[in-house]
Amino acid sequence: MSALTVGVDLGGTNTRAGLVTDTGEIVARFRCPTRPDLGSDRVISGIATCVRQVIREAGGAEVRGVGVGAPGPLDPFNGVIISPENMPCMHGVRLKDRLESSLEMPVAVDNDANLAAFGEQWQGAGRKAPHFLCVTLGTGVGGGWVCNGELMHGFNGNAAEVGHITIDWNGPRCPCGNRGCLELYVSATAMVRRTRERMENESPRTVLTADGLTTRAIFEAAEAGDAFARAMFEETGTLLGIGLVSLVSVTNVEVVALCGGLARAGERLFAPVRRTFKERGTVGVKERVQILAGTLGDDAGILGAAKLAIGA
Ligand SMILES: [Zn+2]
Repeated sequence: MSALTVGVDLGGTNTRAGLVTDTGEIVARFRCPTRPDLGSDRVISGIATCVRQVIREAGGAEVRGVGVGAPGPLDPFNGVIISPENMPCMHGVRLKDRLESSLEMPVAVDNDANLAAFGEQWQGAGRKAPHFLCVTLGTGVGGGWVCNGELMHGFNGNAAEVGHITIDWNGPRCPCGNRGCLELYVSATAMVRRTRERMENESPRTVLTADGLTTRAIFEAAEAGDAFARAMFEETGTLLGIGLVSLVSVTNVEVVALCGGLARAGERLFAPVRRTFKERGTVGVKERVQILAGTLGDDAGILGAAKLAIGA
């Protein structure tokens, strides 16, 4: 058997670990509830339990180390969690040090969006693209940038904060400090909010109801022919396309992958994204850039974390 590492995805709901070969195959998995409400000791012992469970499946083969993808913001150089919104108990926790003393093996920590990108570049949509950007559309807009096969961090680990480029200089204030950030328009949460606002202000003809509105409901209405729901996807895709033009101008990546629940809307989202990118992108670049869907789903984070451990 080839060399093994463990990749961990620390989510707000579940902690998931995978035993991964150096060719990117997940050969064992284990998950447990994260329970941030029970404090940091419980979250850390949950990670250690998941890691030990998958290592049992290694059958005595050497496991070289552990990579952990955790919610940001965090310090990837020292493996310190800073202040994730959904896990207040973990603020300031030295996750790398704590896990290394518990597991007695090397541990590397990075933010979950970076590691999803690293995973997609290694085994997914970016497999043939050493210059690769991954944009994850969820409650926020996260991202990771791989340049010449290396994950980019910047000076303090905040490279590829793709959700916080401005697309409206006069737009609403974002919690990050900027105004009119991409995240305020094209995250799943933002798309629902914009749709609801439009319904309240303009009373369009639509089958949608403001109560319990989700991107899935908007998608299903659009597929069923609802013109208002279709227009919301057109607008969201157009705004995302405008953001991608700027991001590609800076990164010069050859493949952009869109991940997260909203990306599952397929052509409903991708068509306006690609059309806007073709209309506005840089001549000589836009013709060669591919905008694709991520292919790994939830496994991207585990694989990226394992790849981080291989390189650590
Ligand atoms: Zn922002």
